[in-house]
Amino acid sequence: MSGDRLLSVEEARDAVFAAIEGPTPLEIAWLSEARGRVLAEPVTSPIALPPWDNSAMDGYAIRATDVGVATDDAPVRLEVIGEVRAGQAPDVTVQRGTAVRIATGAPLSPGADAVVPVEATTPLDATGAAAGPRGRDAAGPLPQAVMVHTAVPTGGSIRPAGSDLVAGSRILDAGTVLTPAAIGLAAGVGLDHLSVRRRPVVGILATGDEVRSPGRDLGPAGIPDANGPGLVAMVEAAGGDPRVLGIAKDRLEDVKARICAGLIEGADALIVSGGVSVGPYDVVRAGFEAFGTVQLWRVAVQPGKPFAFGTGRAPADRIPEERPPALLFGLPGNPVSTFVTFELFVRPAIRRLAGHRDDDLFRPRDRAVLAGPVTKGSGRRAFVRVTVERDDQGTPRRDDHGRVHASLAGGQGGQGSHVLSALATADALAVIPETDASLAAGAEVELWWLDRA
Ligand code: AMP
Ligand code: MG
Repeated sequence: MSGDRLLSVEEARDAVFAAIEGPTPLEIAWLSEARGRVLAEPVTSPIALPPWDNSAMDGYAIRATDVGVATDDAPVRLEVIGEVRAGQAPDVTVQRGTAVRIATGAPLSPGADAVVPVEATTPLDATGAAAGPRGRDAAGPLPQAVMVHTAVPTGGSIRPAGSDLVAGSRILDAGTVLTPAAIGLAAGVGLDHLSVRRRPVVGILATGDEVRSPGRDLGPAGIPDANGPGLVAMVEAAGGDPRVLGIAKDRLEDVKARICAGLIEGADALIVSGGVSVGPYDVVRAGFEAFGTVQLWRVAVQPGKPFAFGTGRAPADRIPEERPPALLFGLPGNPVSTFVTFELFVRPAIRRLAGHRDDDLFRPRDRAVLAGPVTKGSGRRAFVRVTVERDDQGTPRRDDHGRVHASLAGGQGGQGSHVLSALATADALAVIPETDASLAAGAEVELWWLDRA
């Protein structure tokens, strides 16, 4: 893994994956806190939906044969022998020539095989006179009888038991990200909690004598910490549970103490930004080595050098349980490099820890054509930040080949690894292969969509 040869992006990523022993342990989440969580186990429905035959309409539960000849000109009279409301068990049986008033969602009365909607009926009083207009509000007083003005098919306006789901059917797969609809489904079959993966705990440490908390006085040579808060947001968006470890000075003792604090807190992964070069004040590698093994990787990617990766543990006497070692990521300090290396190597690792399926670890890919030329160093794969042309609905425009149009965010000058302003406008990363030192306008490239939220 070391040596002078540059690693490909895939080799580096596979090495990260190889260090992951498995997803985080499972825990129980109440539905009220389950959105965005990843299911740890498949979910089967304990009940059928609907649980019993029920009415799809407000109307009358009847026998279809009784109204087989009913028309507007020659309606059929049925005696109303009772009522069944939503939430109530039916207590009368429909027999020939009778009807039971029924509400939407109420269990179908025994004996009935169809529901005629209230709109196709006229209520009658005890004398046989109309007790109200045709289609009178189904919530009025129970009429003595009804005229039915239309035939209905057997099964009409009935939602049969199990027509949505049969009991025992699998409704959600392990690895599913719980959307509002998935939570509604789980609730709809009567579940109040689900078994999910614990969100991976990810410690975040910025380093640099010049780096200051945003809002603090910068003095003559300080810069605000872009990476700490940026990484917190990225970890959160990736489904992790970020823990802020502050800003370390470029001193081994400070870096070590904060890494140790993160490990003791139970981090599944630590991300340290800056201080991974081989300069005299770059102490992150040594800081990691105090707790495990790390390697300084030279990955054939732009931006993204240098990059350190390894695994480590809290001192044995400080953390009781035996748990897999934490992943240790040392990302380059330039904010754009931090962002891109997070995208390439850290985000997929967090998602794997979080229990996402293998086909759901990476950004959605697309095809794009470049609106203008792009130059870069050869021998490295470049991940350039691009904006995508959109119509006034916000939908990306596509050409006849289905490709979107990508322009460099902030122009060629926006691609420097320190240029934060262009990064924030980017919709996507465009991938410029190792083999090309430059690409002309119109060249087709792979695109990785980024979050817009
Ligand atoms: P380093 O990787 O520590 O050599 O830092 C590379 C560049 O990134 C330097 O210009 C640093 O000032 C800058 N940098 C490092 N950490 C941060 C940070 N947290 N926020 C903004 N810029 C940073
Ligand atoms: Mg530094």
